Amino acid sequence: MDCLFCKIAAGTIPVTRLYENDHVLAFPDISPQAPVHVLVIPKKHLASHAHGTAEDAAVYGELLAAAGEVAKAQGLDNGYRMVINTGADGGQTVGHLHVHLLGGRPMHWPPG
Ligand code: C5P
Repeated sequence: MDCLFCKIAAGTIPVTRLYENDHVLAFPDISPQAPVHVLVIPKKHLASHAHGTAEDAAVYGELLAAAGEVAKAQGLDNGYRMVINTGADGGQTVGHLHVHLLGGRPMHWPPG
């Protein structure tokens, strides 16, 4: 297993586990870009959003639902942003699908 986020999901690399069920895990981003910056990952290894198939639809649903639960738990009542960087042009740097949940400050549009 040579994937950083697989190691985090397995507990080999310790993180603060903010939300977890059989399918997904949420933990704080190590380099936060907002007052709240949480990553939500599937426990199943998918290299990126582009690597999912229709069979993974339930996992994608779990990711969004988990991000919503974390947003509530973090008190992001004024709104938040979710981002899935995908591939080189998308700015993805870790090769395991993850949703960024960002909040606690106003976001700008368009993103860079
Ligand atoms: O979307 P992208 O692939 O660029 O995001 C990867 C994210 O993983 C970054 O925000 C980075 O700070 C985070 N990260 C982390 N813990 C690590 C390595 C990276 O939270 N050990």
